[in-house]
Amino acid sequence: MMSSYDVVVVGGGPAGATAADDLARAGRSVLLLDRAGRIKPCGGAVPPRLIRDFEIPESLLVARATAARMVAPSARHVDIPIENGYVGMVDREHFDEWLRERAAAHGAVRARGRFLRLERGATGPVRVVYEVAADDPSAPGGERVVEARAVVGADGARSEVARQAVPGAGRGHCVFAYHEILKAPQPAPPDYLPGRCEVHYRGSLSPDFYGWMFPHGDTLSIGTGSADRGFSMRGAVADLRQRLGLAQAQTLRREGAPIPMKPLPRWDDGRHVVLAGDAAGVVAPASGEGIYYAMASGRMAAEALGQFLRSGDARALKAPRRAFMREHGRVFWVLGLMQRFWYLDENRRERFVGICRDRDVQRLTFEAYMHKRLVRARPLAHLRIFLMDLAHLLGLARV
Ligand SMILES: Cc1cc2nc3c(=O)[nH]c(=O)nc-3n(C[C@H](O)[C@H](O)[C@H](O)COP(=O)(O)OP(=O)(O)OC[C@H]3O[C@@H](n4cnc5c(N)ncnc54)[C@H](O)[C@@H]3O)c2cc1C
Repeated sequence: MMSSYDVVVVGGGPAGATAADDLARAGRSVLLLDRAGRIKPCGGAVPPRLIRDFEIPESLLVARATAARMVAPSARHVDIPIENGYVGMVDREHFDEWLRERAAAHGAVRARGRFLRLERGATGPVRVVYEVAADDPSAPGGERVVEARAVVGADGARSEVARQAVPGAGRGHCVFAYHEILKAPQPAPPDYLPGRCEVHYRGSLSPDFYGWMFPHGDTLSIGTGSADRGFSMRGAVADLRQRLGLAQAQTLRREGAPIPMKPLPRWDDGRHVVLAGDAAGVVAPASGEGIYYAMASGRMAAEALGQFLRSGDARALKAPRRAFMREHGRVFWVLGLMQRFWYLDENRRERFVGICRDRDVQRLTFEAYMHKRLVRARPLAHLRIFLMDLAHLLGLARV
């Protein structure tokens, strides 16, 4: 007997686990399929809004950064206190598993294995074929087929579900990000604060993105990203470690992964598949922040599938992209412009960090990051920042 579900969710990262949890809570039968066995390479920085919206227990936060240091190419830096909030840090090994287990506690069935293909007839349910994990005693390494009325493709950047099902997917532009997990050194090097994250803008650390150091309690993540395939990210991270006095700290893991740079133009196949998270391309330009957006889009996918399963009308599958772009499209657009302009050369990077000295810029930036909305309360501050940006763009302002 072939197992049959309302929804098969492919991928148990933040997007898929959130979609599976919401669907299971709504009483739907759900299979959550995840390849498992690999910790997602990720800096793990999350905003307070994520903790609030997705009811994440504070115990999953391994650290809270209450200050951020922005470092310019000249090594001049700006220290920004994060007022009325924090940047939370999660370890993906535990965070993702907790999310998957929560979905299971609400009724989702978990399966470990690698998604292989979708088999679709002209009508009727879709079949999802996957390779059972090699250490699963029920059918190690064998193929298994399950039936579903709908599928969520939440299998990350370069999603196989997207490639097979959604026209135009699979060609999305990605940057590659690489980081090293270090044991937090004891004693700490001078100028290392466990409650401060650092963002470094310097061409030798990244020609088109930035380098970072995020404290994670007992460990820390130090990394960089770039779309330039010839750029040595390992070399850049070694350089950053040297600069921060972390060259000798113990390295626990070295890992990297692609980050999609643009939401896909289409997230559904018009029949029974909808994408979410990195599979749909929802990572914020300029910052590379993807966890919150993955969970938000996973939730939107679950809502749309609820509607689809009730009505059978596949037009419901278009709703998540529309809703997401309505809510976050403007911020993504602004961040995209920012990345294209300010990250372009050393002079602009220097100016960019210079702008961040402004208290209004600091407040509005962190308010927007933490709460995922543009603060409208202080129109004069916006106007002043706009004029200041303009002066920098036109070269009228000094760094
Ligand atoms: C180095 C690096 C640092 C980053 N730092 C941050 C940060 O600090 N803050 C932030 O917000 N974002 C960060 N991001 C981005 C963030 O990690 C992603 O945007 C986020 O994980 C997307 O979640 P997701 O659920 O869509 O995909 P993923 O987290 O990639 O999850 C996809 C899941 O699908 C599974 N899967 C994949 N293929 C298959 C298959 N064929 N069959 C079955 N399962 C499959 C995988 O096992 C995985 O569990 C970083 C990314 C990188 C690479």
